[in-house]
Amino acid sequence: MTRYGFETRMIHAGSEPEPVTGARQTPIFQNTSYVFHDADDAAALFNLQSFGFIYSRLTNPTVAALEERLASLEGGRGATCAASGHAAQLLAFFPFMEKGDRFVASNRLYGGSITQFSKTFAKFGWEVDFVDTGDLDAVRAAIGPATKALFAESLANPGGVVSDLEALARVAKDAGILFIVDNTMATPALCRPIEWGADLVVHSTTKFISGNGTSMGGAVIDSGTFDWAQNDRYGGLTGPEPAYHGLSFYESIGEMAFTAHYHAVGLRDLGATMAPMNAFLTLLGLETLSLRMERHCDNAATVAAFLAAHPAVAWVSFAGSDRSPFKPLADRYFGGRYGSVFTFGLKGGYAAGMALVESCTLLSHLANIGDTRSLILHPASTTHRQLTDAQRIAAGAGPEVVRISVGLETVKDILADLDQALTRAGQAAQAAE
Ligand SMILES: *Cc1c(COP(=O)(O)O)cnc(C)c1O
Repeated sequence: MTRYGFETRMIHAGSEPEPVTGARQTPIFQNTSYVFHDADDAAALFNLQSFGFIYSRLTNPTVAALEERLASLEGGRGATCAASGHAAQLLAFFPFMEKGDRFVASNRLYGGSITQFSKTFAKFGWEVDFVDTGDLDAVRAAIGPATKALFAESLANPGGVVSDLEALARVAKDAGILFIVDNTMATPALCRPIEWGADLVVHSTTKFISGNGTSMGGAVIDSGTFDWAQNDRYGGLTGPEPAYHGLSFYESIGEMAFTAHYHAVGLRDLGATMAPMNAFLTLLGLETLSLRMERHCDNAATVAAFLAAHPAVAWVSFAGSDRSPFKPLADRYFGGRYGSVFTFGLKGGYAAGMALVESCTLLSHLANIGDTRSLILHPASTTHRQLTDAQRIAAGAGPEVVRISVGLETVKDILADLDQALTRAGQAAQAAE
């Protein structure tokens, strides 16, 4: 498949005609378990001496088709899907993190990731150090002997912040640690972090990849090029695995070690498996990814320009705007497109933000992004509610901030809805004074 172009792989990677029936579209293997050829076959599968289907908590043919397609589109060696983006993130760290281990993460992440990393991961004894990843010296200073990875979003949700992927990859490589990139907002249609030096790419496929707001899902794509044996930090993959008779995944399976561990240990023991139906819907979404991303980005650029000129709007944080400090990085990494999720600030503050989301009629007020439909949200009162004021401001989610995910509707209809809602938001802010 690698000789084919991106659009061809969006449609064909991982999806051969089904050999028994000739069914052309990938079937939904709504199936928990698979008959072994014989007892030796079963033993080899359980010993990880051969790969095949045993039980759908570990692997399923529909999910495997999606994994192969995602690996192809991101330019990775292997991929693993999980029940949600958050499940994929947890499972991404699981193969190499031990109690007391640390990782460095950008302080400008999706709010749910900040909470997951700082609160829930702490229960496993995994500690996070948040830094401004725009400051490479701060990143270097935060990496200590127990640090296993550096984590950033290619395009951060929601602030329109773009990571300098190549520079961050260099810092991680020099320190001998993994560089993990959440590529949910950019998608491989705009950016392939592995090409810039990322070792692992994580996704919430819930968003643009499935694209229609139907299916929760997540994925981790492994570049297959990280040297797990370069230092003594990654015993989870290089050392003997007690649950597999002392097998060393890296020694035995090489560049597929991480992906094999993720299925054989992570999914087996944490159980956060993607459902076959969700894999099927996500495969359908991927078939049109680049077409949708083009329209999403074009509509978003039009909406951003409209908002920037609107008297009720204080500022717009869109990476494609000439005033954005992130435009040069976006041009470099996303090839002249800027995503369709961004934030803007209302002159009327918190009251105006609440009134705006309530006054929209075409735009849906809900907590998701990357749907065909245009979506709007006031992060301070919803997704970023659990954070402290300082964390909210660092994450670009202060009281006056509104997040928009621009959909695929006729753009003049989106503008008209925003215009009437902004008028009402202005009135609400005046009444609140
Ligand atoms: C939504 C999202 C997640 C979490 O994914 P879920 O599928 O909701 O679990 C992680 N990172 C980013 C950037 C997201 O937008």
